[in-house]
Amino acid sequence: MDLKDKFAGLMRQRKGRLTHEMVLAPGKFGLGRTPERLQPDSTTSMICGFCSTGCSLKIHLKDGKAVNLTPDPEYPVNLGMACPKGWEALTPLKADDRATMPMLRGEDGKLAPVEWDAALRLFTDKLKATIAKHGRESVAFLSTGQIPTEEMFMLGLLAKFGMGLVHGDANTRQCMATSHVAYKQSFGFDAPPFTYKDFEESDVVVFFGANPCIAHPIMWERVMMNPRKPEIIVVDPRQTETALAATRHYALQPKSDLPLLYGLAHILIREGWIDQAYVDAHTSGFEAFREHVKTFDPAFVGKLSGLGEAALMEFAKSLRPGKRVSLWWTMGVNQSHEGVRTAQAIINLALLTGNMGKPGTGANSITGQVNAMGSRLFSNTTGLPGGRNYQDAAHRKEVADILGIDAAIIQQKPGLAYDQILTGVKEGRIKALWVIATNPAHSWVDQEEFRRAAANLELLVVQDMYHDTDTAQLAHLVLPSAAGAKRKAWSSTPSAAWACSRRSIPLRARPWRTSTSSSSSPNIGAANPSSRTWTPPSRPSTPWPNSP
Ligand code: SF4
Repeated sequence: MDLKDKFAGLMRQRKGRLTHEMVLAPGKFGLGRTPERLQPDSTTSMICGFCSTGCSLKIHLKDGKAVNLTPDPEYPVNLGMACPKGWEALTPLKADDRATMPMLRGEDGKLAPVEWDAALRLFTDKLKATIAKHGRESVAFLSTGQIPTEEMFMLGLLAKFGMGLVHGDANTRQCMATSHVAYKQSFGFDAPPFTYKDFEESDVVVFFGANPCIAHPIMWERVMMNPRKPEIIVVDPRQTETALAATRHYALQPKSDLPLLYGLAHILIREGWIDQAYVDAHTSGFEAFREHVKTFDPAFVGKLSGLGEAALMEFAKSLRPGKRVSLWWTMGVNQSHEGVRTAQAIINLALLTGNMGKPGTGANSITGQVNAMGSRLFSNTTGLPGGRNYQDAAHRKEVADILGIDAAIIQQKPGLAYDQILTGVKEGRIKALWVIATNPAHSWVDQEEFRRAAANLELLVVQDMYHDTDTAQLAHLVLPSAAGAKRKAWSSTPSAAWACSRRSIPLRARPWRTSTSSSSSPNIGAANPSSRTWTPPSRPSTPWPNSP
């Protein structure tokens, strides 16, 4: 090839789409312009599942297949925007490793396809046998806010009342229980007091342990739409992308957030920068709280937090009544040492300054997963449906009467939390584990320790849309589930607003050769190496007294 041909090769694309394939044409269904070759013949909608914001996406369907998407301009959450993750919402549908058939691990230690009937028979027979031999507490489930509310509700009812399990967690007690308990103790019920409009109506927006630029990009875009040009304060030990974009960043020492919040309350009270009328009218226990924060003077807190006294005063001044202040937190608080107390201390700042129940205000928890709110309300793990309690005999009877079951089936207290379930697995008390839409072999705090604990299990069942997650690779049985885009389902945003994926994209099972073998004993064999000692995560002590 001479130089001329080489040059021509560089200049001329010989493969790829032809120009006419890239023509844009007026879209139907109010979609603006769309590629002509991808003109939809109908649309549906789905809620993006990559974070908790809950953006609505219009899905373009052609011959029953999802061919494109457009963020919904009419939807009050994302107002026609999507972050780079949302634009990829259809990518999982095309993934090569989508689970489409049940897979059973055979004597050779390998997973192989098995028919649904056989898989379900093995699953139910083995669980029944485990319960018969070791009791109800020997089987547990783990799930997440990645599954929608209806499925979470059904899972909780089926597991607890149908299968008779005692232990299960929707990962609520890994993170969102912090906000749940903080709101319940402060307000009497779990109700985040905000809407996304508050991002646009604040004068001061404070983020604690949150990085919305990356984790919740459309929430950040809502802050950027604020016409009041708000002061944006980030409290985070790390210089995150959000910290870089903020007007002020307080890079406090790790684990000093609770004393920092008490120190701010101390200054606000001392300087008279509180809304006394609001405090008198709407709160109780103020005097006890004032006494409690007395010892958190700026000199002490400034040193402990590493921020210094002057920075603390500057911070407190920004919270003074007269401006609309909204306070936001997410996993930096929820998954931290003394998380409930820290969340309550944020709530107390909002109450002290009267920043509650008005536009642009609030003490506002942001969740992580698309249906974290739904799972914490409906998982049936820490409470009974409809806000009822396991401990209350009248509540148990009400639920039993509605469902037409014997009240004696309903346990009298919540089961073990996520970490306690894994401790039970490690100690051999839990013999069978059903893992749904989560991947603890990857996400648990110590992956190796999880793997070794899982080696103790007589049955590990993974139910997931992918057949090759780290946990699925340890499982005896893998059950496939549909992708979020293919289900009509409800999820709950961090502000407890309900969001619906309107209509499902048709389910299409991939052709797959099925095995007729089904009754062999699960044998995880070499796939799950033998155990070494696992030290469960210790529970932190409580050095700070409870706020009122
Ligand atoms: S902000 Fe969250 S919900 Fe919205 S498009 Fe991005 S990942 Fe999806």
